[in-house]
Amino acid sequence: MDETRIKQVIEFLNQKWKSGQLCGICGSSRWHINPKPLQLTEFNHGSFVVGGPVIPVVAITCMHCGNTHLFNALITGAVQREPSEAQKGTPSSVGQTTGGAAR
Ligand SMILES: [Zn+2]
Repeated sequence: MDETRIKQVIEFLNQKWKSGQLCGICGSSRWHINPKPLQLTEFNHGSFVVGGPVIPVVAITCMHCGNTHLFNALITGAVQREPSEAQKGTPSSVGQTTGGAAR
């Protein structure tokens, strides 16, 4: 993510995270936003599903205990849905894209 997108994620978290932004495990407030969005893929008993559903996520990690939160990268604004998908007019299932579509 570029700096603008990271700032967008921080703004998102400041708006949505109402509980003091303290770690639920250790109580620390030292969080790190992974600068690269990650993706969750469909579980298939150890085999990678090519073209399967992908959920892009932003990992936020507590720097004291390692507790990690995953936020949907489309909702946080860290990544944008690819135009081709929107043009197809596919029903919007937030956070679910196909085949590595989100970058
Ligand atoms: Zn913690």
